[in-house]
Amino acid sequence: MKRRHFVTAGATATLLTACGQSKDCSISTAGASTEKQEVIKWTMVTTWPPGFQGLGTGAEYLAEQINKLSNGRIKVKVYGAGELVPALQVFDAVSSGSVQMGHGASYYWKGKLPSASFFSSVPFGLSAQEMNSWLLKGGGLELWQELYAPFNVFPMPGGNTDIQMAGWFNKEIKSLEDIQGLKMRIPGLGGEVLKRAGGTPELIAGGEIFSALEMGRIDAAEFVGPFNDLAFGFYKAAKFYYYPGWQEPGTTLEAIINKEAMESLPQDLQEIVKAACLVANNDMLAEFTLQNSKALKTLVEKHGVILKKLPKDVLDKFQEISEELVKELGENDELSNKIYASYLAFKESAIEWRQISQSLS
Ligand code: CA
Repeated sequence: MKRRHFVTAGATATLLTACGQSKDCSISTAGASTEKQEVIKWTMVTTWPPGFQGLGTGAEYLAEQINKLSNGRIKVKVYGAGELVPALQVFDAVSSGSVQMGHGASYYWKGKLPSASFFSSVPFGLSAQEMNSWLLKGGGLELWQELYAPFNVFPMPGGNTDIQMAGWFNKEIKSLEDIQGLKMRIPGLGGEVLKRAGGTPELIAGGEIFSALEMGRIDAAEFVGPFNDLAFGFYKAAKFYYYPGWQEPGTTLEAIINKEAMESLPQDLQEIVKAACLVANNDMLAEFTLQNSKALKTLVEKHGVILKKLPKDVLDKFQEISEELVKELGENDELSNKIYASYLAFKESAIEWRQISQSLS
């Protein structure tokens, strides 16, 4: 339907082509009436609370980029979680075509598609830059698009939080013993790893973590990294801030587009939407790296937060369990198998290079 608007008859079509780059299209041509360019209006729903630092603002940045790069030909209006659809219905809303775009993280859909987790983050998996490399150069993005195609959804990388932190603890972790019975807010695969290691994962929404920690209902909680954790004030509810973020070593966010909405765009606009996603993907990682480093300094120097590294026996056990768990994700069906094989082969070679190249100290 939309494509038809572009193919108007004779002189008008020539005029539209001639002034395609002009915002108000006010070129006056003898014999032809002045006509404004068509503006395609899209709706983007997100899994983030409205205006949420880094993630929600990243989705808004993506919408602005689409508007800017298309020279105003596409306008995207962004809705936070719950404003139009609840956070966990973003995929379905894009799939059904009730909205054209969504922004979230693929591991939210692991109930429907277990291997979707590979395209956001898996415990002890790829770093942010390694994710970019696997997706863009290692065949990952094509597999992601294949996984979502039956749902009428076209995914692109749309941001990255970089590596997260292991979380906030009110109990010191000296060895694997201290994990036994540890009540921790940790969702997804990380939570499953904790459970298999003897802990008790708790499902608590972001907005309720602070009070659960403060009231002692849980002993520990992971959220994101210093940038978001400082804003949520967790340092007032827990003593120790543990690293590294083994559970999410470089989480890719997704921009998802309804396939028909995408295909109804002229070719140049399709390329512009994809390019805008890559710009937003890169911008968010740059933002998190800057803001995390600044926020960590504030947490330690201003709020006296005690930084601690998880002991080696804990990390070793978590890694061993994670590798089993991630292997299970690849056992569901033929495509999951292909995704796991691609991810694992990339990871093995990337980690060899990481260990050689990053051994500065
Ligand atoms: Ca997290």
